Amino acid sequence: VTITVEPNTFTNWAQNLTCEPAMILKPSSEEAVVDTLTAASREGRRVRIVGSGHSFSPIHTTDQTLISLDHLGGIKSVDAEAERATCGPGTQIRDFGEQLWENGLVLRNQGDIDTQHIVGAISTATHGSGLKLQSFAAAGKRFRLATPAGEVLTVDESDADLLAATQVSLGMLGVITEVELAVRKSFALAESLEFWGFEELLERWDNENANRRHFSFFWMPASDSPDRLFMEYPDGMDMADRSRVKLYDELPADVLDGDVDAVIAEKRLTRLDRPYRIYPDPDFQGEIMMRELEYMVPYEHGKDAFLALRDLCLNRYPENKYPIETRFIAAEDAWLSPFYGRDSVSISICGHKPQDFMKFLKDVAAVLDPFDPRPHWGKIYFVDQEQVAASFPKYADFVATRRRLDPEGLLLNEELTRLFS
Ligand SMILES: Cc1cc2nc3c(=O)[nH]c(=O)nc-3n(C[C@H](O)[C@H](O)[C@H](O)COP(=O)(O)OP(=O)(O)OC[C@H]3O[C@@H](n4cnc5c(N)ncnc54)[C@H](O)[C@@H]3O)c2cc1C
Repeated sequence: VTITVEPNTFTNWAQNLTCEPAMILKPSSEEAVVDTLTAASREGRRVRIVGSGHSFSPIHTTDQTLISLDHLGGIKSVDAEAERATCGPGTQIRDFGEQLWENGLVLRNQGDIDTQHIVGAISTATHGSGLKLQSFAAAGKRFRLATPAGEVLTVDESDADLLAATQVSLGMLGVITEVELAVRKSFALAESLEFWGFEELLERWDNENANRRHFSFFWMPASDSPDRLFMEYPDGMDMADRSRVKLYDELPADVLDGDVDAVIAEKRLTRLDRPYRIYPDPDFQGEIMMRELEYMVPYEHGKDAFLALRDLCLNRYPENKYPIETRFIAAEDAWLSPFYGRDSVSISICGHKPQDFMKFLKDVAAVLDPFDPRPHWGKIYFVDQEQVAASFPKYADFVATRRRLDPEGLLLNEELTRLFS
């Protein structure tokens, strides 16, 4: 069954992109997806795919056919022994929490929010933090992929190249209609929120990365920066040039069956709970105006890249009060993942909406350029085809795979044609 949505207007979460597709379709079965692709192919209509629409970049916009996977969600099976879960592409990250926990399992890692579709998150290498932890892309171990030719391919570890191409493919190889996700045995997450001065941040950077499950921070350029993202901080503390630091460690899951308050007091924690209850940051649920850029640099350049951006904020854009969020991610194999082949530091920052945020973000990109950055595909970026080809070692292999599966470019829009045709 396919439902056609009226009116035909799509606006992304951040409301920086709007398009008027000729059709917005919501298929509720794999057959309906195949029918849509076959008809579009026959009639020469281009197709784009959208998850929950949380990307800031024009990777899901089109004036032709837009396929939404809202009606193709849900967890189909959980295999506790194999530590795998199989689900529809439109399953939201938050849908996994309870059901996996009941089976003694949790997601391997999570980011700041949990509203994205699982395949939207995989397709852009959405990540949390933890230098030993990979992005959602690496957890995608088997896909059913409906191609423009009307075939449904099973993509898994038996063809490592096709798997690495599919994991981060921005919907350019086909519509993913099912995914098998690697998950893991459950654990309790112990959270400490701390507020560090600049010197302490630099001093503890490497050690926390080596020894913690999760280290990440929001560095604040100004005293009122926490207000930008509705963040709380201790009364009377001046947050200028100070960071709100998240430190997370794993404890055995059964600690949650005991006296949780006593453990919190003894270990001086902020919270101790199931991971899926701690990861989504309530600060991001509010009415924030975000226009965000996020670039990933190799771990060894991370500190210098952060310092260069801090300098830009303090000296050239004192009116831009947004914090710099800094996270750490392990290397992975997905060809278009910004973490391909290298442990990475992700650096992100927003521009103020009423101000000239594009000029600010362009300058942010220029400042990060010497550190060999790769963009987060779901955020605002400033790259051309030549830069993408130079910074993603498997770029040519990806484009060859794309041309093989979609020779007519049915799944390309203007932006993807510019970067990947
Ligand atoms: C408030 C907020 C917080 C965020 N926090 C984080 C964070 O902590 N970490 C992080 O890394 N990123 C974060 N992001 C970015 C976000 O996770 C990515 O942009 C992600 O891709 C959004 O998922 P989505 O379901 O909305 O996908 P969409 O933005 O709708 O689509 C993303 C891509 O996936 C493709 N796609 C979607 N479904 C399918 C399918 N079934 N088959 C084939 N292709 C498909 C689309 O065509 C598109 O190219 C955040 C964004 C926002 C707005």
